[in-house]
Amino acid sequence: MPKTTETILEINLTALGNNYRYLKSKLNDDTKFLGVVKAFAYGSDAIVIAKELELLGVDYFAVAYVSEGVNLRNAGIKTPILVLHPQLENFEILIDRCLEPSLYSGRALNHFIKIAAEKNQSNYPVHLKFNTGLNRLGFHEGEVDEIVSLLKTATSIKITSLFSHLAASEDLDEKSFSEAQIKLFTSISKNLSTKLDLHPKLHMCNTSGLLNFPQAQFDMVRCGIGLYGFSNIIEEQRNFTPIATLKTVISQIHHIHSGESIGYNRSFKSTSAIVTATLPIGHADGISRSYGNGKGWVWVHGKKAPIIGNVCMDMLMIEITTIDCKEGDEVIVFGAENSIENLTDSINSISYELLTAISQRVKRVVTRK
Ligand SMILES: *Cc1c(COP(=O)(O)O)cnc(C)c1O
Repeated sequence: MPKTTETILEINLTALGNNYRYLKSKLNDDTKFLGVVKAFAYGSDAIVIAKELELLGVDYFAVAYVSEGVNLRNAGIKTPILVLHPQLENFEILIDRCLEPSLYSGRALNHFIKIAAEKNQSNYPVHLKFNTGLNRLGFHEGEVDEIVSLLKTATSIKITSLFSHLAASEDLDEKSFSEAQIKLFTSISKNLSTKLDLHPKLHMCNTSGLLNFPQAQFDMVRCGIGLYGFSNIIEEQRNFTPIATLKTVISQIHHIHSGESIGYNRSFKSTSAIVTATLPIGHADGISRSYGNGKGWVWVHGKKAPIIGNVCMDMLMIEITTIDCKEGDEVIVFGAENSIENLTDSINSISYELLTAISQRVKRVVTRK
């Protein structure tokens, strides 16, 4: 890898493959693997990641919205794609591009049946989502009979899978809640499958669900964060490698006298002589202003350098008084050896939030190492 000369997000496909194989090693022989590539594959690059996962042999993809699925199809992805939260006005495009909807309400189901019929579809694959406690999206268990009566006459669609989502799969203090969700999902699925005389695939687990509740892997698991190298379970983290490294460089070094201030609003005022470095990365690149004023820090030659003053739109300043470095030197914001959680913990955030916030302005560079 040549030396960084600008801010880049390096994406390591070797690490992706290792994370994938580790997750696969947890699966029963007949359990399928769905790779979640929503939100630019958690802020990395959805097309690069989906192509690699397709080569590795994933069975399914999931995205959040139809436009994300269309981008994958435009890039030549052939694997089935589940759209977790399709909007009703996009159902026609969804069908045109062979995407598969998650249908989570009577309104969505009715509308999809109608659009699929208008487009002369028969047995179009759809997935029904049940709410078992997250209270975000999904049919309620009491709606099973309504679903059954809607489906008895609908020939335009075919139920490919039934699924639900755990609310606190990473939190073993909520183990009994998760177990109750699994039990409720099992009973809803049995009830619906019997009434419809169907055998759709069942799935419930995200990454932490698979790690904490392997007995609930059913016919498929839906993994996102684990593929990208994070486990929400501390003891499991050593089995994963973060695929993304956010790198930048030192643009300029300043020798600051006691009494001078740094950055906008003069929010940092020096009480001694210090040395600062300005980096070409700011809140427009995804580094929230919350990381400013000493909360977050980055790595310069393996040493911690705090972010001082307010984070600007396109730049931020760090303190490097005791670090031997020069203009043009590389800076690591986070990466495989410099956990993203050092940053996110400092402002009560989580890896998912910072990863997906890295803006499209930051160049993505693919490596294998
Ligand atoms: C995002 C998402 C996942 C993936 O969760 P991870 O914790 O990243 O593994 C799985 N299922 C649904 C419904 C999701 O929205």
